[in-house]
Amino acid sequence: METPAAEARNMETPVSAAPPVTARRIAPRSARPVGLYDLTLPELEARLRNWGAAPYRARQIWNWVYVQLAPDYAAMTNLPKDLRATLTAQLPLSTLRPLRELTADAGETVKTLYQTADGQLVETVLMLYPDRATVCVSCQVGCAVGCAFCATGLGGLTRNLTAGEMVSQVIGAARQARERGRALTNLVMMGMGEPFHNYDATMRMIGILHDPAGLNMGARRITISTSGVVPKIDALAEEPYQLNLAVSLHAPNDALRDRLAPINRRYPIRELLAACQRFIGRTGRRISFEYALMKGINDDDATARELADLLRGMLCHVNIIPLNPVDVLPFERPEAAGIERFAATLRQAGIPATVRYSRGLEIDAACGQLRAKSEALAAEADAAPISG
Ligand code: SAH
Ligand code: SF4
Repeated sequence: METPAAEARNMETPVSAAPPVTARRIAPRSARPVGLYDLTLPELEARLRNWGAAPYRARQIWNWVYVQLAPDYAAMTNLPKDLRATLTAQLPLSTLRPLRELTADAGETVKTLYQTADGQLVETVLMLYPDRATVCVSCQVGCAVGCAFCATGLGGLTRNLTAGEMVSQVIGAARQARERGRALTNLVMMGMGEPFHNYDATMRMIGILHDPAGLNMGARRITISTSGVVPKIDALAEEPYQLNLAVSLHAPNDALRDRLAPINRRYPIRELLAACQRFIGRTGRRISFEYALMKGINDDDATARELADLLRGMLCHVNIIPLNPVDVLPFERPEAAGIERFAATLRQAGIPATVRYSRGLEIDAACGQLRAKSEALAAEADAAPISG
């Protein structure tokens, strides 16, 4: 997994792009199936009324789907047969098809590769900890932000996922947790994509998962991670949910952040931190700053002190994520001693900091990596001559 250090230090050198991924046809929005997971409970009630079915059936369905985690309508034995037939025909239960499931960390990390109805690939990771089970959800196929070290951004944005495609990932993870004798407790929007570039669908998903008649997932157990889309930080502060906000900072100054996270050219650090302060002021909630630590790039003592000066006085916490190296990108993870020193420098300067090692390194669980490889494999398969 090691990448050349020399290249990593010379960031001005254009990064050679990954081999182009296969361009799959994107179904127009109108052609994408609306599934049950796309609907709120009141919307489902309205559908049932339109079909001439009793609206109270909606709560029964909701219970089957979100409490019992039923895999199909056939399991919903207390519904009339004709209603089950209508549901099957009109409202597919899931619009995602699991393609592969990989486990790592002695079974504590489960990564699933899904295919959408229009053939896109999406990843979801379930992480089991002693005290919680967390699902990491993808919100887009690809990402338009294009951070320099991230596998998801390599091919640009293909399309936004629908709320139902996101809910489907969560329910898949809830089933996987239950198969292991566990209950899903937490959700992080840290898979593929920028949730604030797919804001409405993300909020719709949260509304559906939050519903007390269904999964009943508390907003405090949900974390949204953003690369720093300032207007949406303000929008989130006005939402009725007490969600956690994580902001991917990665650098304490604009010169460095411009190169690592190009969104910084649009929303520079000063504006970003001002929005974070407004969020804290409005919600009283602590913000997490994520910091992907890269050897020779953003990991020296002076940078740690600069970061501490920048964040001093803010109600925040820094999560240091030692880089998950991406094969085709020239960035490396620092050695363990360097990682600990960076964290210690921050703490000594009064900034709470935790080192968070990513789960599932050996199964490419870092955002976008499994999908990137699967796309490459699919491209090879597509290109292979058909014999006979
Ligand atoms: N787009 C959002 C959320 C998805 S990425 C965002 O950028 O915040 C979730 C986190 O993983 C972000 O902090 C992102 O910077 C980080 N990340 C992406 N690629 C990484 C890599 N190769 N190694 C370590 N962290 C990475
Ligand atoms: Fe997009 Fe987040 Fe990856 Fe940046 S780190 S390219 S914002 S998914």
